[in-house]
Amino acid sequence: MPTWHPGHTRDVELPQRLTKFVARGRVFLETASNFAMVGVRVSGANGSQRHIRVVLAQPRGFCAGVVRAIDIVEHALKKYGKPIYVRHEIVHNRHVVETLKSKGARFVEELSEVPAGAVTVFSAHGVAQTVVKEAERRGLPVLDATCPLVSKVHKQGKRYVAQGRNLVLIGHAGHPEVEGTMGQVGAPVHLVSSEEDVDALDLLDDAPVAYVTQITLSTDDTRNIIGALKRRFSDIVGPETTDICYATQNRQSAVRELCKVVDVLLVVGAKNSSNSNRLCEIGLEEGVPSYLIADGAELNSKWLEGREVIGLTAGASAPEELVLHVIDALRQIGEVEVTQMEGISENIEFRLPAELRT
Ligand code: SF4
Repeated sequence: MPTWHPGHTRDVELPQRLTKFVARGRVFLETASNFAMVGVRVSGANGSQRHIRVVLAQPRGFCAGVVRAIDIVEHALKKYGKPIYVRHEIVHNRHVVETLKSKGARFVEELSEVPAGAVTVFSAHGVAQTVVKEAERRGLPVLDATCPLVSKVHKQGKRYVAQGRNLVLIGHAGHPEVEGTMGQVGAPVHLVSSEEDVDALDLLDDAPVAYVTQITLSTDDTRNIIGALKRRFSDIVGPETTDICYATQNRQSAVRELCKVVDVLLVVGAKNSSNSNRLCEIGLEEGVPSYLIADGAELNSKWLEGREVIGLTAGASAPEELVLHVIDALRQIGEVEVTQMEGISENIEFRLPAELRT
């Protein structure tokens, strides 16, 4: 993780939407001859003299799996026309869902709600085999938007089961990704979410065991539980640490760095987005008051009282325009100056399903 210092700037492209802010006449760029983005100063809406420093986390917001899932729905709408049926929220963000709805996507919780023959998309979180089989039985044309990293966990779990191992899944009960993985493996799966759960597992200590993790947990989240599993079971295997989701790890690491220099943390994301909630928890762990907000409308000015530097990040399913919406809301409180911390620049892309590539 590169070291970042307050006031540190770097040579990056100005985000497109930020340029629009300039066009709306509210942003003043502090320019310098040798770099494109530095502090962005936004005048206060009410002529307020309060000065608010905002530091953006890098990276933040959309990951490659979310981009692919949204692209699948949009490409499907173009190729097959509306409506396209999507099982479960394509990603956990109401703004994304509403935008796709306005373009002709219909969101359902069960396949029984999908009319015969309608094009159906499975969400980025993945689905259980029973759902795949039901779609086959009904002859529904399916586009699978399951994130390739989640599919990789499904395959890994199946491999371990085929080796005759008892499979332990580290994850949160009720999360769609966990339900999908448990339903993909085709054998009993032992779900654990704490070290206490490991102690309580109804398995012999010398039983052959393998573990996989909810991919949207980071190494920080799983380290202690994996440690407990390895202490308890003598014959245990698990994936390489590189198998965790790069986006989750990068966003969490960036927030830990960010918390070293900010007085309060705002996380843009949905209440049902586990990775957004986790970013907020990390802020609290780092001793920084942290708030999860869907957009600028949920900003509470009381949170900022006595706070000079505000950290701003977004979960993997939150679009950048919502980050800009929060900056716009901050502008109602005072003069805003935005800088972006140095951080990892992600360039991962996942390919669309073959039928949508042309
Ligand atoms: Fe895939 Fe990770 Fe994004 Fe989830 S957070 S969709 S696992 S890249």
